[in-house]
Amino acid sequence: MTIAARTNRLLMALRRDGVTDEAVLSALERVPRDLFVPDLFRDQAWEDTALPIALGQSISQPLIVGLMTQALELEPRHTVLEIGTGSGYQAAVLSRLCRRVYTIERLKPLLVEAEKRFQRLRLHNITTRLGDGTRGWPEVAPFERILVTAAGGPEPPKDLTDQLAVGGVMVIPLGVDDRGQRVVRFRRTAEGLVREELWPVRFVPLLSDPPAETPPGSEASARLP
Ligand code: SAH
Repeated sequence: MTIAARTNRLLMALRRDGVTDEAVLSALERVPRDLFVPDLFRDQAWEDTALPIALGQSISQPLIVGLMTQALELEPRHTVLEIGTGSGYQAAVLSRLCRRVYTIERLKPLLVEAEKRFQRLRLHNITTRLGDGTRGWPEVAPFERILVTAAGGPEPPKDLTDQLAVGGVMVIPLGVDDRGQRVVRFRRTAEGLVREELWPVRFVPLLSDPPAETPPGSEASARLP
């Protein structure tokens, strides 16, 4: 099957499963996911599945990327902070939909590879940083949108919610209770944060510095359970 046919099949599946925003679908169509997965898995790049990348991390399932991007309610003028660059795929999708993406990754080898992909695809509106994303990016804050692509606590990191602009939206997977993780959307209003639980997911953990060894049990995930 050609890449174009695989892409179409994937887009139809995403549409059926709830990704209805045309701008998001078009961004997913235009970012070549096969450039973001290891050679070994290139065949599966256009399947709706999470795939392993280096260091025990994973590139999220396209459906999750689509739904989380859609949940952000992005506008072209927005500046977005992403935590957990990983392969860079999610950042690349965001970069097609907003003015600028700031993305933070704590594992240097992953960030180096992601930066190469951004250059190769001429995605010049992505700025990267190596470090602990739970602290956000105070020099640039506030952000209109924040997307976390690793699963945090029961509560979002305070530095991140503090760096969310009034009117801003943050989407983050949280381990809400023993039933597992859920994608949660926060809106900052003049009165405070409004919390809304979206759907269940499984992401690799959001870790804080100093970077430890690869966490156990962080096999391919970022998919619907
Ligand atoms: N968005 C990625 C998938 C993310 S996997 C993609 O599209 O491919 C989650 C990533 O979050 C991993 O690469 C992991 O190293 C990173 N991560 C976990 N905790 C972090 C932290 N505190 N700061 C920055 N990155 C973190």
